[in-house]
This record gives sequence, structure tokens and C-alpha cells, in this order.
Amino acid sequence: MGGPRLVLLGRPGAGKGTQASLLSEIYGVVHISTGDMLRDPSGSVAALGSEARAAIDAGELLADDLVIALVAGRMAQDDVVERGFVLDGFPRTPAQADALAAMLAPETVDVAIDLEVAPEVVQSRLVGRRLAAGEASRRDDAEEVVERRLARYEAEAAAVAEWFARRGLLVVVDGLGTTEEVTARLRAVVDATIAAG
Ligand code: AMP
Repeated sequence: MGGPRLVLLGRPGAGKGTQASLLSEIYGVVHISTGDMLRDPSGSVAALGSEARAAIDAGELLADDLVIALVAGRMAQDDVVERGFVLDGFPRTPAQADALAAMLAPETVDVAIDLEVAPEVVQSRLVGRRLAAGEASRRDDAEEVVERRLARYEAEAAAVAEWFARRGLLVVVDGLGTTEEVTARLRAVVDATIAAG
């Protein structure tokens, strides 16, 4: 059943969104980005309420229950079951990783790839993303919020990476280089995972 089941981990600004979208085209899997779902004004998240929206704008993580329910709903849909997925921005906490495992049981994800880019590099990328987007920039790309998002990431990321590492599911990939170079590295990992069956 289904296509590859992939998780992309990495700091905000590491290129997860770009690479997840490329992987979804290459492997025909469904790109599930919790950040995109949460920002979608026409989605179920419109009903989230001002508290959740304020948390997103402030660069804080949302409550596990809320994000887990959002992902569980999406993962249960036929296209995801049939085609597989690449998760981008989830899980962000060990509790979310446990919930993901429960959603997939008795199966698991095939591989979790940690897209490694140094904090100084993502910081300047995020500032660049804000300047390039101008008026249309994400509110959480504001400089002080970027700091908070990166700090939040550092606080939780090691535990999430460790969660996958303990289960033999973690591969670290260098996220520096051109988009094409990074995609080639990711493909090598995914292809090797598929071949190992
Ligand atoms: P992202 O686009 O992945 O950087 O997500 C943007 C914002 O959405 C984050 O700063 C959080 O406020 C919220 N968010 C996205 N994914 C999660 C998650 N897995 N758990 C909690 N909050 C999340």
C-alpha cells in the first residue's frame, strides 16, 4: 500500500517547504505542511480563533492537541493513504511524534530527514525572505519573531530528532547548497530507503 512516508525536519528557513514540495512532485506523495494549513485563510484553521492566530504571528508553537487533530484529519484522507506523504513542520514535539506513530501503527514512517543548516545561515535566509516578500511577507518572518521561532525550534528539535534516531529512522542531510544539490542529496536518501524496502 501507498507511496513513501517521509518526514522533513529542520530549522525554520532550512528549506523544508521548498524541498518537501519538490519531493512531492518527484515521488507523487502528498505534501503536508502544518504551517501552510495553519496559515490557509480558507481552511479549517479559519475557525481556529484569535488565540491560535496570535500564537502563530508571535512565533510560538500551537498546542499539541490542536495540531495533532489537524494532521490526523489530513492523514486519514484517501490521497494520503494511497500516495504516501512528506510531512513538513510536523512533528515539532515528542508528543506529536508519538501521535504520528499512533496514526500510522502498525506501520511507521520510512525515514525522517533532518535538513541541517546552521542557525546563522537560516537567520539571514529568513531576513532575506522577508525583504524579498515586502508587504506580502509572513508576519512571523519579522526579525524579533524569527528569533523566537529559532529559539523554540532549538528547545524542541533535539528531542524530536532523538525520537526518530532511537527508532533507527533518522538521517541527517546537509542543507547547504543550491536547491538542486540539496534535492539530489534527499533523493539519494529516499531512494536508498525505498530500495531497502
Ligand atoms: P512553519 O511554517 O512550519 O514555520 O509554521 C509556522 C507556525 O505555525 C509556527 O511558528 C507555529 O506557530 C505553527 N506551527 C506549525 N507547525 C506546528 C506544529 N507541528 N506544532 C505547533 N505549532 C506549529
